[in-house]
Amino acid sequence: MGLGMCALRPGRPGEVTIAGMISVDEALEAVLGRTKALPAEKTPLGDAFSRVLREAAVADRDFPPFNRAAMDGFAVRSLDVPGAGARLKVVSEVRAGIWPDRAVAPGEAIRIMTGAPVPEGADAVIQVERTSVAGSHAPGSCEVTVETAVVAGQNIVPRGSEARAGAVLVDPGVRISAAHLALLASVGMARPSVARAPRVAVIITGDEVIEPSGQPAPAQIRNANGPALAAAIHEGGGVATEYGIVSDDFEATRGAIARALNEGHDAIVLSGGVSAGSFDFVETALSSLGVTLHVTAVCVKPGAPFVFGARGEILVFGLPGNPVSAQVTFELFVRPALLKMQGATHILRPTFEALLDAPVTNRSGRKNFLPGLAGWEEGAFRVTPIRTQGSGDIAAHTRANVLVILDPDRTHAARGESVPVYPLSSLLEM
Ligand code: AMP
Ligand code: MG
Repeated sequence: MGLGMCALRPGRPGEVTIAGMISVDEALEAVLGRTKALPAEKTPLGDAFSRVLREAAVADRDFPPFNRAAMDGFAVRSLDVPGAGARLKVVSEVRAGIWPDRAVAPGEAIRIMTGAPVPEGADAVIQVERTSVAGSHAPGSCEVTVETAVVAGQNIVPRGSEARAGAVLVDPGVRISAAHLALLASVGMARPSVARAPRVAVIITGDEVIEPSGQPAPAQIRNANGPALAAAIHEGGGVATEYGIVSDDFEATRGAIARALNEGHDAIVLSGGVSAGSFDFVETALSSLGVTLHVTAVCVKPGAPFVFGARGEILVFGLPGNPVSAQVTFELFVRPALLKMQGATHILRPTFEALLDAPVTNRSGRKNFLPGLAGWEEGAFRVTPIRTQGSGDIAAHTRANVLVILDPDRTHAARGESVPVYPLSSLLEM
């Protein structure tokens, strides 16, 4: 590929200056500095999963809205049940969804179901398993014996104890999870305001690349990046439109990009054609279409040929064709941009430290992201580096759940050393 050491540590012998090569942080800054928030829109609750909430979720009433029974049993006055064996007259019954028809008076109990409002007078619910009933079981003609002492407040969730009316329960900027959907439903937000999903065009370049359904000729390969990038866009909250595979030809590349620029996309993601080869036309095609290139090489491994540009508010990402490079640069630069467009509060996956259980090396002079399998073992996060043939090794990448990060000047990390790792999923992203 012709990309050697970055000139980030001037003075060291053997380092080659690559024109325009900048650090990962600088490249991310260049991307995010040109990423604008998309407008919000209302969506039915059923379509809100995974979208970014753009308004606060506010409690429209107290939660719970009444003193709620947490068990099936009997609503009683704790004073009436100071010890085991108290006998009370069962005078009524209250089901979930029904307001109690009377209060509990001294010596009385009301049969109650989980989720029902606790009647006036009662200050405890004794679960049915701790009682026995004599008589017909019909309210008014039976008695309940309570087999244990009861304390005030037992099995009652007091009105407003989870949230008071008017309280902000979810801030704008969260990505809506299943748990958030339960909350939005509970406060009556049937059409929440969410970010419009970024529309992203995907263009795959490469004469050697054929559709996955095809039988490759000896020198051909199947399109691994199309499906992977479409899925990554979806995971990042966007909607991908695939523009198919274009050949390594200036006019073909330019034509596909021109169409994508004119068809209402917020971003374009290209794969391949950004290296220094004789058939890499993405940069020249972008420039000829008025896309200003802000990043043309990054001090990262894999993914050094990463390209970023913009035309107006349309962001254009040229990812290297090697599948691991494409996926890693997507994670580092495209995903944060998609989340920022949506107004998300957390746009970067939080990295964490893990203890290496085998040594790793980084002779690239670049910030190195190596596949690893991390897990919690013997009281610590530990990470096993995964053997890889490099940025084309799709199989190794699929076995990783993290990327071990070695800074450009960290040439070696020994077994037992702590290293930062980048999670390849959303754990801890709150
Ligand atoms: P390029 O960035 O175009 O120089 O491609 C770098 C390497 O990635 C080459 O080995 C390509 O064959 C391979 N490659 C490019 N595009 C794809 C793709 N869509 N799926 C799988 N491999 C690809
Ligand atoms: Mg290519």
